[in-house]
Amino acid sequence: MKLKLTAVPQPVNSGVPFNDSSTGWMSNGNCRNYPPATFFPSDGVGVDRARAICAGCPVQARCLDYALDERIEHGVWGGCSERERRRILKRRALAG
Ligand code: SF4
Repeated sequence: MKLKLTAVPQPVNSGVPFNDSSTGWMSNGNCRNYPPATFFPSDGVGVDRARAICAGCPVQARCLDYALDERIEHGVWGGCSERERRRILKRRALAG
């Protein structure tokens, strides 16, 4: 029996960023090069360390928007701590 191939399988990691989902931008974040725990710090020093990594991130604005839209409560996202994001959301709510 002869098999007919109709599609060429794609490699799992082709090196091309996966952008077909609402979180595809994450593959371009600076945090991909650090342990996830770096972005869930337990003190202010850790928050500052995470913020410094976020500061040079090419998807920082998208990351912050995502965290705000999804109401993510924990960790540093888009260069903002949990407290900073709560303040932003409060300001937005007050602004109507
Ligand atoms: S802004 Fe920070 S948390 Fe968001 S993708 Fe970039 S490095 Fe990761």
